[in-house]
Amino acid sequence: MVDKYIPQDIEPRWQRQWEADRLSRAPIDKTRQKFYALTMLPYPSGDLHIGHWYAMTPSDARARYLRMRGYNVMFPIGFDAFGLPAENAAIKRGIHPKQWTYANIDRMRRQLRSMGAMWDWEREAVSSDPEYYRWTQWFFVQLFKHGLAYKKMSPVDWCPNCNTTLAREQVWGEDRHCERCETPVIKKNLDQWYFKITDYAEELLDFGKIDWPERVKVLQTNWIGRSEGARVTFPLPSPGEGHEGIEVFTTRPDTLWGATFMVLAPEHPLVEKLTTAERRAEVEAYVAETTRRTDIEREAADKEKTGVFIGAVAVNPVNGESIPIWIAGYVLMTYGTGAIMAVPAHDARDFAFAQKYGLPIPVVIAPSGWDGQPLSEAYEGSGTMVNSGPFDGMPVPENKDKVIRWLEEQGLGQGAVQYKLRDWLISRQRYWGAPIPIVYCPEHGQVAVPEDQLPVRLPDDVEWKPTGESPLKLHPTWAKTTCPVCGRPAERDTDTMDTFMCSSWYQYRYLSPAYGRGAFDPEEYAYWMPVDCYTGGVEHATMHLIYTRFFTKALRDMGVVRDDEPMTQLRNQGIILGEDSEKMSKSRGNVVAPDELVSRYGADAVRAYLMFFARWEQGAPWSSSGIEGTARWLNRVWSIALPADDEGRKTKDEGGASSHDARHEDAKALRRITHQTVRRVTDDFEAFEFNTIVSALMEMTNALYKTRATTEGAPVWDEAITTLLKMLAPIAPHIAEELWTRRGLPYSIHRQAWPEYAAAAAAEDTITLVVQVNGKVRDRVEVPAGIGEDEAKQRALATEGAKRTLDGRRPKKVLVVPGRLVNIVV
Ligand SMILES: [Zn+2]
Ligand SMILES: [Zn+2]
Repeated sequence: MVDKYIPQDIEPRWQRQWEADRLSRAPIDKTRQKFYALTMLPYPSGDLHIGHWYAMTPSDARARYLRMRGYNVMFPIGFDAFGLPAENAAIKRGIHPKQWTYANIDRMRRQLRSMGAMWDWEREAVSSDPEYYRWTQWFFVQLFKHGLAYKKMSPVDWCPNCNTTLAREQVWGEDRHCERCETPVIKKNLDQWYFKITDYAEELLDFGKIDWPERVKVLQTNWIGRSEGARVTFPLPSPGEGHEGIEVFTTRPDTLWGATFMVLAPEHPLVEKLTTAERRAEVEAYVAETTRRTDIEREAADKEKTGVFIGAVAVNPVNGESIPIWIAGYVLMTYGTGAIMAVPAHDARDFAFAQKYGLPIPVVIAPSGWDGQPLSEAYEGSGTMVNSGPFDGMPVPENKDKVIRWLEEQGLGQGAVQYKLRDWLISRQRYWGAPIPIVYCPEHGQVAVPEDQLPVRLPDDVEWKPTGESPLKLHPTWAKTTCPVCGRPAERDTDTMDTFMCSSWYQYRYLSPAYGRGAFDPEEYAYWMPVDCYTGGVEHATMHLIYTRFFTKALRDMGVVRDDEPMTQLRNQGIILGEDSEKMSKSRGNVVAPDELVSRYGADAVRAYLMFFARWEQGAPWSSSGIEGTARWLNRVWSIALPADDEGRKTKDEGGASSHDARHEDAKALRRITHQTVRRVTDDFEAFEFNTIVSALMEMTNALYKTRATTEGAPVWDEAITTLLKMLAPIAPHIAEELWTRRGLPYSIHRQAWPEYAAAAAAEDTITLVVQVNGKVRDRVEVPAGIGEDEAKQRALATEGAKRTLDGRRPKKVLVVPGRLVNIVV
């Protein structure tokens, strides 16, 4: 038998064995506590990269740990196979997206298997399979039937390079570029489908039932952007048809008396109607200039405020004063009503604008001690209402609600809550997605495809290169169909769905990927849901992680699922940077390829290193020398854990060489560190602190080497090795299994119970320190044998005898004789 540790030899062998023995299958078992561990499913856009490994390896290790703790653990995997990345890559290479995607899936399956993770491959789901997207379409139909899917014409963000619309979340950065290709986006008017996620804005703000990272909760809260205030209509003195007034939302209705002008977004539909003839040329030039700029540029607080008076006035409803209407780029049509009331005395932006254009700045909230003079800058704090009719003298914000009630009584406005959250735009003018299951009949309008006719299959024979039109629209026959209601000729919707629709419900499909009578088997659902722990990147905070929560809430309200939340616990990993501390990218040439590492060091070393080199939630730059160290450690484990007779290489201690006392002390020390390590590793697995798990196991390995001469072959040695291997099993599953088997222990190590920690064995030995004051014995104290000097001093000073003798005097010096005494000099 070869004695050397050759991971390339043992890893594929064990992977085949585990697969043959179906070791990772998790059927329903009502006698055991279930645990649904889920890691975000990958896009099959190319190679499995080191970031996947970094996200998935600790997730796998933790799932394995929980299995050893006795849970029935389901750990599934699949592919988010529709969508732009796959399609763009296919276009670049001139291969059909389907062919390209499925070839990649095959390749990535092999790569995923090389990790040795405990995926339950029988639960694999691929979102581009017709058996999968049949149900994606079915969910669309349910949302449509319940009024949560609707179509409207609207300006959308359009990537001219990808030739498709983007959701708000897919537009990034100051320059508003496409998330996928970094091309700046433009606006385009299109008739598209939306999901009413805004109906759930309030509930999505409630994180009470989930254990998610604070960071994600904050990102989602800000994204939803709730604010309380009032909607108020400013009447127009000469109202036209359909425009009696201008509606605004304000969070400060208590400042209404100080509104001295209004500002509309340049795109506001009333601008066209209200602009007077003599102002028209200037207004049109300003509108043209502004709409070229991006929303972000327009909103930026430090930019100089510009605007144009349109020649019209509105009436301030609380005091009847005529106030001028302006347009300005900093007011956005996409937020609120696209119109604001400007209160220059109490809003910094309005103040700057009013100063620049010479508009009045009356104070209506008096700061304490205000002398009645004009303000030199906007005052946005609390104070007393002045120049405010019936509210003069009232303190705010305490009386804000009273103002809202008064507005309601007077019929001038009503209390309102506003959110930044917008409905979820799901139409994509692309090919590689699930077709939207809607048919347009000249007589019956939008008709959902009947459920027994799903899936609406995506045809293979299309021109999938982007033209700006939906590829399905260009297909000669695909869109032609009949109306499900009247049977007369009708047209299919030719757009496909946002891929985030597919990933909003995949956790349900994993339950029963072959199930044909519904999106999931209700029996599997009843046992497994919700997901107990979800792991993946924080970059999904305002997309996938909001969508999937919305989806579950909407399905719950339709009676399809039972839970309020899809995933009880969420944990995010950090990012691995290149060795140069920069983001990994092909152009920088700093990409680390896991396949190469696996063939060089073995999967176990890669896994162990990824868990060791950084705090998981923080991430760090990659280090090539670091992985060498981890590989060396596994080699050390190998040679120390091989049974002594395995090769006859190890030499046994001859017994007489070391004293009985030394052997006894070493045995005790080894047992102590074994149990201390069990405690540390267990606590750290619970806390997702994977790097300290590996360092604890490394320290334990060192301790084994130190005591080897005196303890090898003794029961304490065997206990230590067995325990080490069990704790190593979740991290480096192959080497742990190999050594376990070679020691003649029953297959499989991955079915063993997690080691128990014995408090008594872990306890440190204690010694008695003598406490002296000025050389006289005043007390004695029990302390751990390995106590440091500082702590020994503290413990001595805290004894009753020392305190009584010192009687409040400060010690001049404290001397420690390690292991024996502490002398306090006063
Ligand atoms: Zn793009
Ligand atoms: Zn019809």
